[in-house]
Amino acid sequence: MKSLIVANWKMNPSTLVGAKKLFNSIKRGVKNIKNIEVVICPPFVWLSNLLMSKPYTLNPKLGAQDCFWEQTGDYTGEVSAAMLKDAGVKYAIIGHSERRRYLKEADEMINKKIKAALAGGLKPILCVANLTQLEKGLKGISKKIIIAYEPVSAIGTGKPCSIGRAKKTRSKIKYPVVLYGGSVNQQNATDYISKAGFQGLLIGGASLDTKKFLDILTINYK
Ligand code: PEP
Repeated sequence: MKSLIVANWKMNPSTLVGAKKLFNSIKRGVKNIKNIEVVICPPFVWLSNLLMSKPYTLNPKLGAQDCFWEQTGDYTGEVSAAMLKDAGVKYAIIGHSERRRYLKEADEMINKKIKAALAGGLKPILCVANLTQLEKGLKGISKKIIIAYEPVSAIGTGKPCSIGRAKKTRSKIKYPVVLYGGSVNQQNATDYISKAGFQGLLIGGASLDTKKFLDILTINYK
């Protein structure tokens, strides 16, 4: 089975020139990789531009970092799954811990967003820090979606979750595709897949550095 590696650029880079440079260098590095599905999730504002980047290649796919729970209407500042789908986006990260923390996104909102992403034809990636968030986020959803297990203490801190704890949590999540996220680097990436049993990774900081990101992809999964 293909591994799934998702890059979460968060609110970076700050210019379109920077975004294109990063995207194109990653694209050159991943276009011939067949055993990994690579997904780049830039800020909304760069998505259309990056989607138009030629030549079209199998990898990377584009994902959004969020989507709203309605498809259209009076919701100032929001972007819907229908809009993202129309723009050519394939995936959407939903319920990232930074949104839960800074924007007070609650499990009920996240649950509605997952449903809207599915209804709008996107593949949602539900981020959870624990099994309670998993259960609440998936309420009423029978489809086996992609889950990302991201312990809060490991996100952006340089303190990755131990392989043992990650493995234990992975065994409790009865979903076929579960990603690990939190301070992934070139040294620890393989272990989350080969030892802890994850099907891929969600990568923040290291995905903003072409060399680090490509090293994770090419060294570990050749
Ligand atoms: C993330 O943003 O989901 C993440 C895992 O970040 P980092 O890799 O920087 O810890």
